[in-house]
Order: sequence, then C-alpha cells, then structure tokens
Amino acid sequence: MNKEQVSSQPLDGTAAEYVDVVIVGAGISGIDAAYYLQKECPEKSYLILDNQEKIGGTWSTHTYPGIRSDSDLYTFGYKWKPWEGLPIAQASEILSYLNDAVDENNIRPQIHFNSTVMTADWDSSLNRWTLHVRDTAAGTEKLYQCNFLWMCQGYYRHSEGYMPDYPGREKFRGPIIHPQNWPNDLDYKDKKVVVIGSGATAATLIPAMADDTAHITMLQRSPTYFSAAPNRNNVTEMLRSLDVPEEWVHEITRRKILQDQQILVKRSFEEPEKLKEELLKGARHYLGEDVPLDPHFTPTYRPWRQRLAFVPDGDLFNAIRDGKASVVTDQIEEFTEKGILLKSGELLEADIIISATGFNMNVLGDIAFNIDGEALNFAKCWAHRGIMFSGIPNMAWVFGYLRTSWTMRADLVAEFVCRLLKYMDEKGVQSVTPELRDEDKDMPEKPFVDPHNFNSGYLNRSMHLMPKQGDKNPWLFTQDYYFEKEDVPNADLEDGTLKYA
Ligand SMILES: Cc1cc2nc3c(=O)[nH]c(=O)nc-3n(C[C@H](O)[C@H](O)[C@H](O)COP(=O)(O)OP(=O)(O)OC[C@H]3O[C@@H](n4cnc5c(N)ncnc54)[C@H](O)[C@@H]3O)c2cc1C
Repeated sequence: MNKEQVSSQPLDGTAAEYVDVVIVGAGISGIDAAYYLQKECPEKSYLILDNQEKIGGTWSTHTYPGIRSDSDLYTFGYKWKPWEGLPIAQASEILSYLNDAVDENNIRPQIHFNSTVMTADWDSSLNRWTLHVRDTAAGTEKLYQCNFLWMCQGYYRHSEGYMPDYPGREKFRGPIIHPQNWPNDLDYKDKKVVVIGSGATAATLIPAMADDTAHITMLQRSPTYFSAAPNRNNVTEMLRSLDVPEEWVHEITRRKILQDQQILVKRSFEEPEKLKEELLKGARHYLGEDVPLDPHFTPTYRPWRQRLAFVPDGDLFNAIRDGKASVVTDQIEEFTEKGILLKSGELLEADIIISATGFNMNVLGDIAFNIDGEALNFAKCWAHRGIMFSGIPNMAWVFGYLRTSWTMRADLVAEFVCRLLKYMDEKGVQSVTPELRDEDKDMPEKPFVDPHNFNSGYLNRSMHLMPKQGDKNPWLFTQDYYFEKEDVPNADLEDGTLKYA
C-alpha cells in the first residue's frame, strides 16, 4: 500500500490523509469495489468511508421482522463468491456472507466506520478530491484526500424512509412506524396491525408478523404483481446432487437465472397479458379459491413496470388464505383515533399502523459537491453510461439494476473503473472528465431512469434531482444488463467523450 500523508487545510489540527481511491459506502457495492480494486489495481491505496458502525448498508439499516432479499442471491451475491444457501435469503444470512467476503479478502482494515462524508471538493490544480468527514462516534471532523472517488453510497437516504403526510395523523393513538426505523421493542403480540403499502416490504412483514398479531391487514391503494413460487432452484439442486463444485453451481445457476429473467422481461413487453395470467395463477395456487384475485391482486399496469416482488413459498398468500392476514384495496380519507377511515367509508381499526411506503432517494449521499470552487448541480450533468457524469472529474457512482439484481451492475461498474484507472496510469494522466462532443450537444434530454421502462414512486418523486441521459451511447443509462454486459466491458475509452489531463 502506497499511503502518502499530504498537508492541506488542517481541521482539529489534523492534516488530511491521502489515498489514491476513496470508496464511499461499505454496503454490497462498496465491498465489491474494494475487492476489484485490490485485485485489478493492487498498487492503489484506498479506504472505505461509511457512516454506519458496521458493514452491509441496506442489510444493516433494515431490521424489521422477516427482512430478506427479494431477488435471488446467486445474482445478488458476487460473481466472485459462491452463494451456498437458498435463493431468497434473510438479512442475517446476507450480512454473514458480506462479513465473510470482507474478511476473506482482508478488506476490513481499510474501512473507516462512523464516518459521514459531508463535502467533496475537487481541485483541478492538485487533481484531488478533498473530503470533509464527520466522525459521528467521536464527534470530530477529519479531512481525507484522494485522486478518485468511487461512490457506493446507494440511492436512498438511510436515516429515514418516505412517509406521506397522512391527514389526521396526530389523532391516531397508537404508534405509526416506518419499517426503515423499526423500534426493536415494538410489541405487536395480539394487536391489530395495518400495513400501508403492497411492495416487497409489506409482502415480507405481513407473513413474518401474522402468527403473532390479532390480525394484520395490508392496505393498498392499487394492487401489485407478486411472483409466488417455492424458494428453491431446480438447476442448483440438480448440480448439487451431482457433487458439482460450489463455484460451478454458483456460475451455472447465475447464468440460468439471468437467461430466465431475460425471457421474462421480454415477455413483459411482448405478451403482457399472458404473463399477467401466469402471475395471477401463481397467486391463486397459494391463495386457494375463496380469496378473490380481483381487485386485490390484479394490477392495471404492465408486469415488470415496477419491481416484481417475489413471494417465497407463497408465504404472504398462505397467511391471507389462513385468515391471519387480509387485503383491503381502498384509499385513505384520514387517520382517526382508532385507525384509518377509508374513502369508501369503512373504518379500518388498528392498534399499530406501519407505513411501508418506500424510501427517499438522495443525491450522491447528501454530500455537497464542489468542482473547483463551484457548487455542483447534479441535475445538470449528463450520465456517461450511468457510471460517470459530465463535468465531474474522477468520480464514478454505482447505481445498480432495478429489475436484474443490483450487484450485477456493481460488478460491471467495478470492472470498468479498474480498467479506466489502469488506462490512466498507462497514459500517464491524473484526471478523466466526461464531456459532450460537438455531435452530442443537441441531444434530447431524457430522465435518468425512463419512466416508460420502469416506474416507481420513489423514482418519480426524485427524478428532477438526478442527472439526465441522452439518446446515444455513451450518454445512455439503459438499465439493461443484457445490453450492458457487452457494452460496458468494451467501452471505448478514447471515443472523445472522456477528457484526460
Ligand atoms: C429492504 C430492501 C431490500 C432490497 N432487496 C434487494 C434485492 O433483493 N435485490 C436487489 O437487487 N436489490 C435490493 N434492494 C436494493 C438495494 O438497495 C441494493 O440492492 C443494495 O443493497 C444497495 O447496495 P449499496 O452498497 O449500493 O448501497 P447501500 O446498501 O445503500 O449502502 C450504502 C452505504 O453507504 C452509506 N452512506 C451513504 N451516504 C454516506 C455518506 N455521505 N457518508 C458515508 N457513508 C454514507 C450508507 O449508510 C450505507 O451504509 C433492496 C433495498 C431495500 C431497501
């Protein structure tokens, strides 16, 4: 490791600590970035800054009952570390996998916990970022400097989730909880619980709580698609029965799942009605004949236009079939002392209300960015393959896939960043900044994530804060793994859109 101390504006009498690369975030993406950096660029010094006190990001933040993945761990896990459990995993299993990944690769010594990056200032005369970091445990501040900033801070605010401003909220006499801030001492035994929302979080919470509550109700404004099937993979089981080594099992299962998903996404565009029928059949299989599918489980949108929540072993539907849980499709008029008054006039009685209403996206980890003294307006930048951004030197952001597992993109971005860093060393340059070529300057502006392709509440609420994409490569952010798995590794680093200095 080539750690170099440099002098800069001291804070608390401490000079800045310099490393070649700073990774922000020790979640699944930050650990992936560190793994690739160590392997591909072993001469680079780096450290990881994370504002939590342990690794895992999302999987440490969320502690609500039943918390689990909604995509399979063969693709949500790393390309380089076999997953040996069932496809859908509990947060505790994911954390244990990530802790093993960190320790097997000696990444932990590079992680600085309780370290919130507050500001990031780029100085072109030094070719350096200066980061102003708050140690939240000690209450002190520290400066770090680096040449390259690898943003693995995720895409939503970890401190609190999104909760609508419910009318009459103050009247309700019980607790109103957002799953992102789950109180460990919440007693829901024999209580009437209403969960607002029908996304993956509601689908996880309801079966996990149903046995203990007096009754639990999922209140949804409109229905969601669920994909219900056993939590097992036939290909994995067959390979394991043949004593195939776990590395192979992992790789072959990944390829098979990716192929199946590609077919599924294609079908969601080409034959949405047929796919819808199949998804409903899956739900019916677990629900039995007595619970009506319409209106509660028949959405009006095309399947896959929002994340398709996987229901392992149909557990949500089993709880509804057994009468421990129920679904109400209606709108909220107001909260009352005793529960929720619906637009239909019905009063949904509750002791506890859980607002499973998603999260708030945040922009670059809520870090104030300055480029040569000028405040960065991220919304004005053009996304360069959705990895780097016009006008921002030496910075990459891992924004994973929304349909395919997030980590599939973290891997592609990591390989791209390492290739770029090696190329810069070969070329003998210190900085790289995406810039529009003359022929790019009249491109139409499109939102960072195309709402016709993928349309989720949290994206819609925040799209105006995000960078824009154009209509041609490399200014596209397709969210399409099958396109990017060819495009990103073969990206031309001398196509005129990357300015080196
Ligand atoms: C409950 C839940 C379940 C999910 N399940 C799946 C799934 O099954 N499959 C899938 O593909 N995706 C899933 N997702 C999406 C998920 O966010 C990503 O897949 C993935 O975990 C994100 O990893 P990450 O490392 O990029 O970011 P995160 O997990 O968000 O980690 C980022 C880390 O950076 C830290 N950080 C942020 N800002 C700063 C700052 N300024 N200074 C220092 N540290 C900072 C955060 O505290 C956090 O520790 C899920 C999301 C949620 C909320």
